[in-house]
Amino acid sequence: MASPMSAGRFLDALRAEGVTVVEVGDWVHHNRNHKGPWGPVHGVMIHHTASSGGERTVEICRDGYAGLPGPLCHGVITKDGTVHLVGYGRANHAGLGDDDVLRAVIAEKALPPDNEADTDGNRYFYGFECENLGDGEDPWPQAQLEAIEKAAAAVCRYHGWTERSVIGHREWQPGKVDPKGFTMAWLRERIHERLK
Ligand SMILES: [Zn+2]
Repeated sequence: MASPMSAGRFLDALRAEGVTVVEVGDWVHHNRNHKGPWGPVHGVMIHHTASSGGERTVEICRDGYAGLPGPLCHGVITKDGTVHLVGYGRANHAGLGDDDVLRAVIAEKALPPDNEADTDGNRYFYGFECENLGDGEDPWPQAQLEAIEKAAAAVCRYHGWTERSVIGHREWQPGKVDPKGFTMAWLRERIHERLK
């Protein structure tokens, strides 16, 4: 059971992990808190945006689109490895997912298949959207993969979580395929090494 860290601590934690951070507008107060609670937090969720172009991707994640208002995450990780902070608080990124998965994340155990959409994930997860088309061909540059690893590790380090608290959207919500192009097992192994 963990309360979300303050926006200031989030920023500090990312910088301490060696992440290059850009603060976008009034990200500290941009959220969906009027739609429901944020917290307790239990993990970090990784996504791909299915978009291209850093500037446009950051804009979409900050503003959202018709039917899905922003912020769509907390940090947008562009191909150059920069983490753009677009919101803080409840964000529209996780949607409804599987309560059995949430229980496994809390217990930091192996994940069961995500075959139910019965639990509000926006309440429980930090979210990072990563610039990638998600077609399985668009490359993931080293700098970007490293930033994903560091950003997730920064949150885990703050809360005392292991790499098992980091999941992909596709491990949470039936029908989702993101992130596509690397396996979450591979990413978790890297986070595990980093947290040693
Ligand atoms: Zn997603």
